[in-house]
Amino acid sequence: MTDCLFCKIVAGEIPAIRITETDRAIAFMDIFPAAPGHALVIPREHHDDALGASDEDLAACMQLASRVGQAAVSHLGATGVTFQSLARPDAGQTVFHLHIHVIPRVAGDGFAVPWPHAEGDLAEIEGHAARLRSAL
Ligand code: 5GP
Ligand code: ZN
Repeated sequence: MTDCLFCKIVAGEIPAIRITETDRAIAFMDIFPAAPGHALVIPREHHDDALGASDEDLAACMQLASRVGQAAVSHLGATGVTFQSLARPDAGQTVFHLHIHVIPRVAGDGFAVPWPHAEGDLAEIEGHAARLRSAL
């Protein structure tokens, strides 16, 4: 896609600090890091987000993200990793080429889990499950 920032990184038209790559996916550093070692994994092929991507590219990206996360644990001192992929503006996505954030974590780093872990209404939860089930 001509106007896509990450397609331009794939094509080498703009610079990126690359880490590793496969035939389907590329890992590079986020230049506005949320934590030391924050990396992004993207498919070479353009998909707007995880909602529209092929099974092959979803699998390739998650496999590469896991490998990068393992390296953050073994070589950057991370004791945990947040894998995150936002889809569409209302979820907070800002670059519309599928990407998985790989964010190295350590205890006490100040990242808050963004929901309260309050118990939900079981009837409502069952209702949502039924609607999802019927779609799948
Ligand atoms: P999103 O907000 O869509 O989940 O994530 C987009 C990410 O792309 C952000 O974390 C942002 O820091 C990163 N980003 C934006 N522009 C660039 C860039 O030019 N190069 C790199 N390496 N990362 C970028
Ligand atoms: Zn793209």
